[in-house]
Amino acid sequence: MAIEKEVKEGKTKYYINPVDCEGCGVCHLVCPEDAIEVHDAINGEWFISETRFGPMSHARLGIAEENSGRLVTLVRDHAVNLSKKYEIKNNLIDGSPGTGCPVIASLTAADYAVIVTEPTVSGLHDMKRVFELVKYFGMKKPRSSK
Ligand code: SF4
Repeated sequence: MAIEKEVKEGKTKYYINPVDCEGCGVCHLVCPEDAIEVHDAINGEWFISETRFGPMSHARLGIAEENSGRLVTLVRDHAVNLSKKYEIKNNLIDGSPGTGCPVIASLTAADYAVIVTEPTVSGLHDMKRVFELVKYFGMKKPRSSK
């Protein structure tokens, strides 16, 4: 939670720190006083574009807006619809960096994954976590080149 307490001149005030808030809405769900309102926000836009390789489903985030699993799921669902419409057998999904909800959403229903990382301690750490996710989703092992 990003809810912080401030005591000033004997009065206690609670507020949501916008820097720490992930926008999950849990505080709205659990608040017994119904004191928290949640409003929809436009964080970006999704598109379907034509490329020389075929149609592409993609999105553009607003400045300083965070990606979300919902946005990735929406883009992925549009890609699946395009595949059906144009009888495309394979979809290539460019996943998000890190290990959060957008990565989980991009791995959902995928057959294979290629994990790309940078040669740093945090890069190795994230790669191991994504590998655990890949195993969790039970993706097929690629055929041996031998
Ligand atoms: S929306 Fe989520 S992260 Fe933000 S204050 Fe509420 S519970 Fe915390």
